[in-house]
Amino acid sequence: MDNAGKLHSMPSFQDQSRAREITLSGRPTWAEIHLDNLAANFKQIRSLVSPAARVMAIVKADAYGHGAVECARRLASEGAEWFGVAIPEEGIQLRNAGIAQPVLCLGGFWPGQAAACIQQRITPVVYRLDMLESLNQAAADAGALVDAHVKIDTGMGRLGVRFDELSEFVPQLARFRNVRIDGLMSHLAAADDASCKPLTRDQINRFEEAAAVFRQAGFHPTYLHLSNSAGVYGYREAWGNIVRPGGVLYGLWRDVLPLTVSDPKLAPVMSLHTRISMVKWVPPGETIGYGCTFEASRKSQIATLPIGYHDGYMRALSNRANVILRGAYAPVVGRVSMDLTLIDVTNVAGVEVGDKVTLLGWDREHAGPSVSAEDLARISGTLSYEVTCGIGERVPRLYL
Ligand SMILES: *Cc1c(COP(=O)(O)O)cnc(C)c1O
Repeated sequence: MDNAGKLHSMPSFQDQSRAREITLSGRPTWAEIHLDNLAANFKQIRSLVSPAARVMAIVKADAYGHGAVECARRLASEGAEWFGVAIPEEGIQLRNAGIAQPVLCLGGFWPGQAAACIQQRITPVVYRLDMLESLNQAAADAGALVDAHVKIDTGMGRLGVRFDELSEFVPQLARFRNVRIDGLMSHLAAADDASCKPLTRDQINRFEEAAAVFRQAGFHPTYLHLSNSAGVYGYREAWGNIVRPGGVLYGLWRDVLPLTVSDPKLAPVMSLHTRISMVKWVPPGETIGYGCTFEASRKSQIATLPIGYHDGYMRALSNRANVILRGAYAPVVGRVSMDLTLIDVTNVAGVEVGDKVTLLGWDREHAGPSVSAEDLARISGTLSYEVTCGIGERVPRLYL
């Protein structure tokens, strides 16, 4: 009775004047996106790089799970000059939301998407002649001259014209009369890793040589760029005239930047919360959760959380992560399951159904304890990016 009343009186977010777009009237599991921290991180990066370099904010993968449209709007108002997306669909989403800045599509496009890129003013990255062929045809059909950036593979080995095959590639470009090569770009494979310094140096040198090959062939692209977050912080000689930070915008850096960068003054942007849906006492000797992986060694107070691995709270966190409630840490016990997670709250006084629990980030009402995406990534053997990208679509984002 008591508990039911509490569940029904859970606060909706309608009354929070700064909360926009999302009201939480259903399951109380949500992510908060702290746009002021995003803006502060952007300013930090902006002040680090030379004024001559533009900042292309990378908002692919729904801004690493933070919400591409909301993040791009805020970054645009802070002065982001370009946006970077992975696929044309993501660029179209930004256009539909009214983002007017140039958008670079880092992954190129697929057959049939050239016309849409032109129509939506999405600048594609190209790395095969047949892409230029279809872009040129679509541009001719539209009676347009369109920009493209050529990607050079300088050592990542993923996308791009190989640096040692440019002498065959470049002479073929003249025939694409409706395409202007307005940028050259490459991508650093390991700029965060001191042991890979020789590769990074090779990449930077190969990129400079590639630019020279284009110039000799009469191409004078406006933009030269190859710096991701690690490049921005680790290799100022790789800044070119656009930098392409992604993770650092979202305050993800401890497993992203070179170890020589100790305090970049970047703040996390996402926090993840839920509310306790059940509390009970479990006698010693009983196991809880799938697979009997946790056995109570004492009389234990166990709380159930309505969040699981479908929401992006990874199963690898089972019996290993901590959450925050009432300003204290409490351990995850037993297996994280698809929709539910258990925590041991025996050491936290006064726990009740409806209590707010923070699984990632910090609790605005209790300064102090926090759990970073890097912490969760380390526990589960991955990168902080995969943590925030993995927060599921079923988790509403609350923009603050
Ligand atoms: C994702 C991506 C970036 C941004 O990388 P971060 O490590 O998040 O800064 C930059 N350039 C390209 C081509 C990318 O794919």
